[in-house]
Amino acid sequence: MQRRDFLKAAVALGGVLLLGSQLSRVAEAFKLALDGKVKVVWLQGAGDTGCTISLLQGAHPDLVDVITRFRLEVAFHPTVMAAQGEAAVKPLERFVEGLEPLDVLIVEGAIPKGEYCTVGEVEGKPVPIEEWVRRLGEKAGVVVAVGDCAAFGGIPAASPNPTGCKPVKEILPGKTVVNISGCPPHPEWIILTLAAVLSGEKLELDEYGRPKVFYSHYLHDLCPRRGFYDRGEFAEKFGEDKCLWKLGCKGPIVKVDCPMRLWNNGVNMCTQNGGICVGCAHPRFPETPLSPFHKEVEAVPAVLGIDLKTWAYGLAGVAALAIALHAIRRKAGTRHPEYEEV
Ligand code: SF4
Repeated sequence: MQRRDFLKAAVALGGVLLLGSQLSRVAEAFKLALDGKVKVVWLQGAGDTGCTISLLQGAHPDLVDVITRFRLEVAFHPTVMAAQGEAAVKPLERFVEGLEPLDVLIVEGAIPKGEYCTVGEVEGKPVPIEEWVRRLGEKAGVVVAVGDCAAFGGIPAASPNPTGCKPVKEILPGKTVVNISGCPPHPEWIILTLAAVLSGEKLELDEYGRPKVFYSHYLHDLCPRRGFYDRGEFAEKFGEDKCLWKLGCKGPIVKVDCPMRLWNNGVNMCTQNGGICVGCAHPRFPETPLSPFHKEVEAVPAVLGIDLKTWAYGLAGVAALAIALHAIRRKAGTRHPEYEEV
């Protein structure tokens, strides 16, 4: 099987991975299929390295698998590379000068203006990261913005944004930038996106440039506490086993697959664990309507023109009515005999 065909199959497996975790099979597939090295540059702008930490926590496969089995040649990554100084920056110059092809540029962190964030020096002058992103982005086969900061500006670009932070797409307006939102993103979102872009297949993106496969469903629709919401049972304080909406949960306005995928190697996710969803994968995180985090969302999506809050109270009312009718029927002895309790 040719590399390209096998990669296609691996991407198809990505859909299956939403429901389970068979990443090691994909990794094995890549090991067999890849016939060359994939050159990758990972830049870090304004952020907290959380996206890299998230990737380091990936379990199926872990980062060593990703690099060795996928045969990635990571030419630059400030956190994991051993080189420093001139030796570290040299590969970047080679890509910029076109001496080597760059397959993938991954950017983590927002891009501050000019001197607020520089990476290395060329001819004794510090080079702004904005410059590297522009010049490497133009050369790269694929550009991936990892995390909310790179994708949308995130916390560093939040008002009043004193360092003039921008998302990667604003530095490369003419280029397709694949955005993987989340603060941080799930390691599987990063790895599977990489698998998809390496396949050369057209990745279906939403209106924010994110792979639809991860960001199509409201967290609220898949939440393990959804039953409480539908019955109008809302927690008034943390620790209560009820819906967390009144405590500020943003699940109703955030599209992300956390409840299906789960975090920490498939163990848990925010609302399942008793914490609210703060909307870290939302394009406007951490500002309105996500902030203040612990304030109830007022504007929630409408269904048939009726907002979800009204639906929730309405459904709770219907449920109460049904229970009352049921009780009346029982008293009147109209139940079918086969359903009688023994
Ligand atoms: Fe779950 Fe939050 Fe929706 Fe409640 S509001 S069901 S806790 S996502």
